[in-house]
Amino acid sequence: MIGRGGDKLAAPGMAGNAWSLATPVDISMLVRPGTPEWPGDTPYSCGWTWDMAAGATVQVSAITMSPHVGTHADAPLHVRPGATTSESLPLSAFVGPAYVITLDGTPRDVALEELRGRYPSGTERLLLRTGQSIADGTFPDDWPALSAHAAHLLAGDGLRLLGVDAPSVDRRQSTALATHHALFDGGAQLLENLDLRHVADGPYLLVALPLRLQGLDASPVRAVLYDGPTRQAANVRP
Ligand SMILES: [Zn+2]
Repeated sequence: MIGRGGDKLAAPGMAGNAWSLATPVDISMLVRPGTPEWPGDTPYSCGWTWDMAAGATVQVSAITMSPHVGTHADAPLHVRPGATTSESLPLSAFVGPAYVITLDGTPRDVALEELRGRYPSGTERLLLRTGQSIADGTFPDDWPALSAHAAHLLAGDGLRLLGVDAPSVDRRQSTALATHHALFDGGAQLLENLDLRHVADGPYLLVALPLRLQGLDASPVRAVLYDGPTRQAANVRP
């Protein structure tokens, strides 16, 4: 439903709510040579198939990268052979109202108690800012991560997507990847390597669609947030 002006979108079920679609906030990492990949994973690189400086009629690039470089959605296949692949991720999970909250960046397993009361009940998309991200050009040693139990409880409570600014929803040294499993078991999707440095805590509209790449364990996304009326009202207060 389009509300006042072509750039305002009223969210279904949120009476009087409107999102500022003309001013997206980009929460995607810049992908370039040198963007930190997970240690040992395939880094981003770019070559040129055709180059006008060499007499070609067009410029055409060719890229190589792990789909986990930069901001991306994992598919269940990432942690489970034979499971759902990138092109089949449920798009509706990646578009809709989302809530950003900030955690202290001390590496630890985060229990649900630490999050309680910090986001509205019924939140379907939760984005966690820890400050432990690749945004400054280095791969963090470790980061706080939601415990698998907390992820299980959140998914059971209707969470459809967990997004993190860290490189993984699990801790760096995790080999069981229990939080990945708990989210996927509960039908929730996940986003990793978000750049949440320039957004305040609070409600937004999230758009972060995976690409239609077949058979992969993950897909790059272009993730953006749109301000809602609550934040707009907050911004104009002295
Ligand atoms: Zn990943």
